[in-house]
Amino acid sequence: MITGVRLIIIGRQGAGKGTQCLRMSRHYVVPHISTGDMLRAAVREGTELGRLAEQVIQAGQLVGDDIMIRLVAERLEQDDARTRGYILDGFPRTVTQAEALDSMSGDRPVDAVIDIDVPRAMVIERISARRTCRDCGMNYTAKGIEHSPWICDSCGGDVVQRADDTPDAINRRLDLYETQTSPLLDYYDRQGRLTVVDGSASPDEVFARLTAAIDAVRRRA
Ligand code: AMP
Repeated sequence: MITGVRLIIIGRQGAGKGTQCLRMSRHYVVPHISTGDMLRAAVREGTELGRLAEQVIQAGQLVGDDIMIRLVAERLEQDDARTRGYILDGFPRTVTQAEALDSMSGDRPVDAVIDIDVPRAMVIERISARRTCRDCGMNYTAKGIEHSPWICDSCGGDVVQRADDTPDAINRRLDLYETQTSPLLDYYDRQGRLTVVDGSASPDEVFARLTAAIDAVRRRA
């Protein structure tokens, strides 16, 4: 098995990034670095960053580039990311963040940039049913009646609907994705670094497609 890798995962909210990144982090034995999870943890802990991010997240807006770039730069300097690599989920979200990541990566460039592509109508359906563990970020799908309280199988945390998974906030985040994050796809595509993986299949099938695509890119390197 190939271990250690540096990956960027892009895709609409609800494309399955969280679920697939958790699986890939176990497969490649690298940390899953989700900026959304980091911000939600900061909100829960009531840190200065959390107080600043809370309103922005609830409104479905983006936290400022400077703050996000500093947060990720600090995280990538930690030993696990320096030695093993990482799976970046939710960062970069803008071209400014992508340029900053390129310059901070230096002699340890990203191996692959993957877009998990799922049509907008399908992600709206998925996000409406999404429930997330407050502690570890594991995602679940609500099917009809919900157990209350719902306890995470993985860590025992509370499984809840995210405050920004309401229909209004979902639509705002998807609009924002089209305007601010889609240019990222052009940015990486122009440099020949983008691999698009169809994410509209079952989680197992998408996982198989992702690892095949990543391993193929790494063999070519
Ligand atoms: P996510 O869990 O990736 O959907 O992120 C949840 C929210 O956190 C987003 O809607 C943004 O408000 C904020 N966020 C996460 N990552 C970033 C980023 N790279 N740049 C700006 N805001 C971010």
